[in-house]
Amino acid sequence: MIIVLKKNSTKQDLQALSSYLEERGLKAHVSEGTEVTIVGAIGDERKLSQDQLKALPFVDKVMPVLKPYKLASREFHPADTVIDVDGVKIGGKEIQIIAGPCAIESEEQLMTVAHEVKKAGVKILRGSAYKPRTSPYDFQGMGEEGLKLLAKAKEETGLVVETEVMDIRNVETVAKYVDIVRIGARNMQNFNLLKEVGKINKPIILKNGISSTKKEFLMATEYILSEGNSQVILCNRGIRTFEPEIRFPLNIGIIPLIKQETHLPVIADPSHSMGKKSLIAPISKAAIAAGADGLLIEVHNCPEKALCDGPQQLTPPEFSKLMKEMRAVAESVGRTL
Ligand code: PEP
Ligand code: MN
Repeated sequence: MIIVLKKNSTKQDLQALSSYLEERGLKAHVSEGTEVTIVGAIGDERKLSQDQLKALPFVDKVMPVLKPYKLASREFHPADTVIDVDGVKIGGKEIQIIAGPCAIESEEQLMTVAHEVKKAGVKILRGSAYKPRTSPYDFQGMGEEGLKLLAKAKEETGLVVETEVMDIRNVETVAKYVDIVRIGARNMQNFNLLKEVGKINKPIILKNGISSTKKEFLMATEYILSEGNSQVILCNRGIRTFEPEIRFPLNIGIIPLIKQETHLPVIADPSHSMGKKSLIAPISKAAIAAGADGLLIEVHNCPEKALCDGPQQLTPPEFSKLMKEMRAVAESVGRTL
């Protein structure tokens, strides 16, 4: 931490700051210039409170050197984390496409889509049983019945399955049926829910909030990691911008940025960010080229009858065509798919 003192600060102020740092196990490295005095706090700066330092009357500026996220950072864990779910690796050379319907609607719908995506080369099936809808009058999901169907789809196809948990009261139930648990955008800062999934032994897909910054996203990640669950997959699902024609524009640049700063797998969700079919393929390919370790793509056997997110769900033939195109992009950047 670098602390800049105010111009009129005195020797006593400097002494007070040195004592403040020493009491917290850090040392002061003082650099007295003609204009200002700068103090480098040497030691674990995370033991310091920036707000407390700023409240000292003789402190002008406080500049942290380290990132506030610790367990997610490359400084803490330099090598890429590869998450292994029943032999399916996320974060390695192979790009994982997680595909399936937005919501689980019936046994026939889920099984049809599961077989179709498997045929196209997918290893992880998505499907939500609990839906975070803007309107309480819209379809809210099948609940535990949907989870049972997901478990059945796993049994029938051998696919790894993932679903969203919205409520702290459902964490145990959801974890009983699926391999990977997803935290949706609207719950990125539901800290109690994050702590709860931090206690289970299942990989977690954490989506960024719809107006979150990179820092807020990574601090939310720390909530899960600090409870002991080190298997977190970060999902970039776009954010709200001034552009009304794209649902939640996906910031392609944030993919390599987060990958540079953290060791965790980073995936992208072109479906919920783009919101319409015609934009899914170009953004999926761009995300792979930018270094995404996987993608979450919605596929429905009959999108015009979907109970949720119809305009963005691909049909199985559309999806299978996209898989071939993505494979070519993956290979061109030294990955497999
Ligand atoms: C989803 O993936 O089903 C979903 C609701 O996405 P998000 O939380 O990103 O809106
Ligand atoms: Mn959806």
